[in-house]
Amino acid sequence: MIRVDGQEIFVIDGHMHFWDGSPENWRNKYGEGWMLCFYDYHKSLSPADYVWPFDKYCKYDEETLIRDLFLEGYVDMGIFNSTYLTEFFKNGFNTHVQNYVLKQKYPERFILCGTFDPRWGEKGLDEFRRMVEEYPIQGLKLYTAEWRGESRGWRLTDPMAYRYLELCRELGIRNIHVHKGPTIYPLNKDAFDVHDVDQAASDFPDLNFIVEHCGLPRLDDFCWIAKQDKNVYAGLAVAIAFIHSRPRYFAEIIANLLYWLGPDRILFGSDYALWSPRWIIEKFIAFELPPDIKEEYGVDLTLETKRKILGENAARLYGIDIAAQREKLQRDPIGQRLAAQVA
Ligand SMILES: [Zn+2]
Repeated sequence: MIRVDGQEIFVIDGHMHFWDGSPENWRNKYGEGWMLCFYDYHKSLSPADYVWPFDKYCKYDEETLIRDLFLEGYVDMGIFNSTYLTEFFKNGFNTHVQNYVLKQKYPERFILCGTFDPRWGEKGLDEFRRMVEEYPIQGLKLYTAEWRGESRGWRLTDPMAYRYLELCRELGIRNIHVHKGPTIYPLNKDAFDVHDVDQAASDFPDLNFIVEHCGLPRLDDFCWIAKQDKNVYAGLAVAIAFIHSRPRYFAEIIANLLYWLGPDRILFGSDYALWSPRWIIEKFIAFELPPDIKEEYGVDLTLETKRKILGENAARLYGIDIAAQREKLQRDPIGQRLAAQVA
């Protein structure tokens, strides 16, 4: 929660991680290459005060996450965008099994995403059912550029992917976060191309597709798709991190999103630990669109819009009653630590 002009703004970090990128977990040279590339993103876009040493970045502990998100980072709830990458990391990078440890400890603070991969085939369907039975899975995170054996990726429109999406429908999983856009070494940028969202979103109008990273750099493609399919949402992770080093670039991105999608289909995400929510949220609250952009696009980033982006839109997607949730959060161990901090 962040207080602005006497208002309390509820914050849901729509995209965060608790990863294990330690050398002990690297399966091969790609594990190391992945972490070096991730670190580059972190170093290049963070304000200098927020840059971590590489070893901390590879593996941070629970207390660090709790502090950076909830105690110092204004975040009320976080959505675990589980990523697997078992071809590069022995135990996976931040799987739902790994994330479940924190979800169990702080059940009101986290939304746990699972995943599917159509290359698991028929037999994966049962495993998917089991995952949903055994874990409190509320959403999914899909990673179309993930390697599996010889394969360098898949598409949402693959017939087998449709079988899994049908199963989501049956099991009541409605929110599908899908990474589209920015690539990370050694994955292929084109395997993260946003185009397949168009057809899948049209064919599954009852599912919500939260396009993480808005398809960047193909923002135009994303916007033209999202304009047509009202069940497509923009996840701001990565995009919003440019607010510090390239504010004009961020202004153009957010103006495009407001112009094409409007204020109700944009979700904040820090992509922690790539970046810390604290500085992003502070800069976002202070941010104003440059006058020429405001005029050209005919949009404005008002406090009301910021409130929607920071929490209300995600709350709506996940059926969270903010007032009731606030009360629950005040009583949990993190809420008690926050209260002690103020006192
Ligand atoms: Zn991420």
